Amino acid sequence: MPDAVRVRFAPSPTGLLHIGGLRTALYNYLLARQTGGAFVLRIEDTDRSRYVPEAEQDILAGLAWAGLALDEGPTQGGDAGPYRQSERRDLYADAARLLVEGGHAYVAFDTADEIEAMKARRRTDANPTPGYDASTRGEMANSLTLPADDVAARLADGAEHVVRLRVPEDQTITFTDRVRGEVSFDTATVDDQVLVKSDGMPTYHLANVVDDHAMGITDVIRGEEWLSSVPKHLLMYRALGWTPPRLAHLPLILSPTGGKLSKRSADRLGIPVSVAQYREAGFEPEAVVNFLALLGWNPGTDQELFTLPELAEAFDVERIGTSGAQFSLDKLEWFNGQHLRRLSSEEIADRARQSVETAVGPVPDDALVTAAELMHERLTKASDLAQATYLFQDPEAYDPAGVKKRWKDDSAALVRAYADRVEALETFDIETTEAAMRELAEAEDAGFGRIVHPVRLAVTGTTVGAGLFETLVAVGQDASVARMRRAADRLG
Ligand code: GLU
Repeated sequence: MPDAVRVRFAPSPTGLLHIGGLRTALYNYLLARQTGGAFVLRIEDTDRSRYVPEAEQDILAGLAWAGLALDEGPTQGGDAGPYRQSERRDLYADAARLLVEGGHAYVAFDTADEIEAMKARRRTDANPTPGYDASTRGEMANSLTLPADDVAARLADGAEHVVRLRVPEDQTITFTDRVRGEVSFDTATVDDQVLVKSDGMPTYHLANVVDDHAMGITDVIRGEEWLSSVPKHLLMYRALGWTPPRLAHLPLILSPTGGKLSKRSADRLGIPVSVAQYREAGFEPEAVVNFLALLGWNPGTDQELFTLPELAEAFDVERIGTSGAQFSLDKLEWFNGQHLRRLSSEEIADRARQSVETAVGPVPDDALVTAAELMHERLTKASDLAQATYLFQDPEAYDPAGVKKRWKDDSAALVRAYADRVEALETFDIETTEAAMRELAEAEDAGFGRIVHPVRLAVTGTTVGAGLFETLVAVGQDASVARMRRAADRLG
């Protein structure tokens, strides 16, 4: 077994937990479980302008729903707490001071207008987006250009300022990403990143590095969009004399029509974005987890169905892919159906109860379990059971296309004749109802199909469903007979 890791899921509480975030959390969780390590939740709430108070609760609910139990986090605590960055400000201030004292960061007083003016001055066709970096910092108002007493006086005056990382000129920063292999960045492409904002709050970059170090994080697994931040982070690790964690950047999640799956493209395609939406849409958490696990990782075998413990066993960071992983709602629904098959009828009944009762009102337990048993193999979601309303109440209408296709001139007479035979059965079960139909077909010299389809329409109002005789048994003898006679009267 590999060494025990300490991994973290580090969401910013800026909105509902989305499906990509859950995938990141899952991969971290799997690595922790596999190595007997710790899975930590850290709330990265330093950006107060984007802070959404309900977000943390939603993140916790989403992780709990998916079964990703935390070892440490804001609710249960732990030795490396506190687990909200807003409660760790002293640590960031200390690190910023160390960086400035060591000459790896500096204080800058420039206003937004002054920075804009510099960019306008520097903008050329070859350099359309000039940065605040080694090539420009010399012409700005900062502690590298201003005399020390001026800087001290401004600070004493409470002048607005930020702290910036002093990114060296002309260096190549190379690191090994466990997914991408060796990655290099030229520091000439890296800005003098703001580390402490004018409100005194650290930016993501500073807080993230300080906390990964302080919390003893050994491995970082996160989305590809953070890859370009790595050189800045490594410069800080180096300057502070800290060992960086191992890094793994997950491939993008792609839209089924190509391109990154953004909130906009997902909305357009009717793909839910937040974990809460998947929960409300009636997806099984085991299916969502299984689907997400394979969205970017493959086990190297044909196995597709996994429980969470099986995933923890099979997971391997080295088998995470580099190319984007295409999202497919059809695939997720397939997983959902497969995971439903593993549940008992009682469990399905439990999960379907709310939707069924919304559709047809209160239903007794045994009726719900019988219905679940009957439809087990056909459900994509447990809540689909609510579509088979005929299992709980008489059909209110008959599918017009079905009637057109299946209800013939002799249908009413055949359905009535079958109802009489069913009514007379002493034992009412799958075998006797089927035998009764065969006998009727022979007696009337009618094809089986001329009876089966109208009977199904009469009893269910539809032309699809589970086996007819199983359905009759689920509906019950009296109700089946009554429904057949009523349909014969109504459809003629
Ligand atoms: N707070 C960042 C986010 O919202 C964390 C990125 C990271 O894992 O470093 O995704």
